[in-house]
Amino acid sequence: MPIIHWFRRDLRLRDNTALTAALLDSGGAVLPVFILDDALLHGKDVAPARVQFLLDCLRDLAAQLQQYGARLIVRRGQSAQELLRLARETSARAVYYNRDYTPPARARDNAAEAALNTAGVAVKSFRDLVIHDPDEVVAMYGKPYTVFSPYKRAWVALPKPAQTIKEDWAINTLQPDMQHTSVPAIPTMEELGLATAQSIPRGGETEAMSLLYQFVTSRRMAAYNTQRDFLAEEGTSRLSPHLRFGTISPRLCYARASATLSYEFPARRRLSPAASDPLKAGADVWISELIWREFYCQALYHFPHADHSNFNPAYNAMQWGSGDVELDQRRFAAWRDGRTGYPIVDAAMRELHQTAWMHNRARMIVASFLTKDLLLDWRMGESYFMQMLVDGDPASNNGGWQWAAGTGTDAQPYFRIFNPVLQSKRYDPSGRYIRNYVPEMARVPDAYIHEPWTMPAPLQNQVGCVIGRDYPAPIVDHATQREVILRKFKEIRS
Ligand SMILES: Cc1cc2nc3c(=O)[nH]c(=O)nc-3n(C[C@H](O)[C@H](O)[C@H](O)COP(=O)(O)OP(=O)(O)OC[C@H]3O[C@@H](n4cnc5c(N)ncnc54)[C@H](O)[C@@H]3O)c2cc1C
Repeated sequence: MPIIHWFRRDLRLRDNTALTAALLDSGGAVLPVFILDDALLHGKDVAPARVQFLLDCLRDLAAQLQQYGARLIVRRGQSAQELLRLARETSARAVYYNRDYTPPARARDNAAEAALNTAGVAVKSFRDLVIHDPDEVVAMYGKPYTVFSPYKRAWVALPKPAQTIKEDWAINTLQPDMQHTSVPAIPTMEELGLATAQSIPRGGETEAMSLLYQFVTSRRMAAYNTQRDFLAEEGTSRLSPHLRFGTISPRLCYARASATLSYEFPARRRLSPAASDPLKAGADVWISELIWREFYCQALYHFPHADHSNFNPAYNAMQWGSGDVELDQRRFAAWRDGRTGYPIVDAAMRELHQTAWMHNRARMIVASFLTKDLLLDWRMGESYFMQMLVDGDPASNNGGWQWAAGTGTDAQPYFRIFNPVLQSKRYDPSGRYIRNYVPEMARVPDAYIHEPWTMPAPLQNQVGCVIGRDYPAPIVDHATQREVILRKFKEIRS
């Protein structure tokens, strides 16, 4: 009697905890299934970009399984019903899966488990999406952490789970011809009634392994601590959609970074610590980012109310908006379409439209601008990001937005408000990022690239960027808005 492996956010064969367990427990009699649940394809936060990436991942997974003579079963419908149907068709004795921790995913999994258990099918779930389960990293008396630094210290101190990658041989036990059921082809975007004009990065385990390899060997990891904030540089790994869909295991990412940390530099280097330490500093900071991912995951798990409201309920009294609904709608549209008149904000929003991804520094800048300069509710931005991002992850996105809005776990203090011009000068000093995404500013001289509205009128004409005609004037004045939002926060706090 076979075991069903229910693929979800673990779209890979290697170092996959539940899959390895299913292979070992069944002697290779595993039925691999992915269910295109209606919730993945419909609803307000569904992003065509993510669906396209997901289909790419499924095709890569199916191709890999085919090498073992196995076929990926792809079903459409409601998860509990489809699993039950498949278990009956194939006389499967159990369903194995890797845990997901968001509130809707937990509700779905509980429903599936109850239905399967009632039908006499065993269900086993495993830790795999994160290195440490949310319940593992807790303070005294099981209290969850709400501040990153102590969470990180506790996370780092725990012994790390071994990679199942060492058990690659388990995959070789995968038995061909396990299917006693028809296997329809993986649908296309058109068949699902979806389309996107964004250029989406390639999905799948093969691509993820290649990105990690490039990141480590090109020394980008070593330079991560100094380069990661510069918007025009390829300073980060670009692994976020892969960690989102599990085409790479977080354990493998951590192992690669740890290997750099524990690398014994040759004697010549050891004599000069300054030469070796920077290499390690990059890996150390990168590991911190992997820990932020787990911090936000546990925050949403322990405080599910944050999914739709302020993590810190003191801010429920905040009146977002200017008081003029139409003005707020116009401002939101300008932000969304990259027409705010602040080049760094507009470049970032256009990067999102074009690539379905946005640099982390840019995410912080546009989130701060929406909430602190335009005074708009963070949930508007959070929802729009989920509709556009290829790596849209409910926990990291919610955490990032509430951090920027000042309402979240370990949030940006309310009085620290990003100045979009200073951020632009600091993190895109030459304006390369801006010129790449805002072509109407291609000929604007460096001296004006961050504040084009200060350009003298003749120069505006000369470089073909007349403010108000070719490129918008700023829709708000940062200094004024800063005072308004500070007053609002102070009122709430008093
Ligand atoms: C407003 C806002 C919204 C965000 N929404 C998302 C989202 O929906 N999905 C998402 O994966 N990340 C989100 N982030 C975090 C971060 O911007 C992205 O993870 C990062 O830009 C991905 O690029 P990378 O893979 O090159 O990351 P790297 O810099 O190479 O980092 C490696 C990995 O660490 C994790 N990571 C890095 N920074 C963070 C962070 N600040 N918080 C949580 N995890 C992090 C990611 O999994 C990332 O792939 C958001 C940040 C902000 C400020």
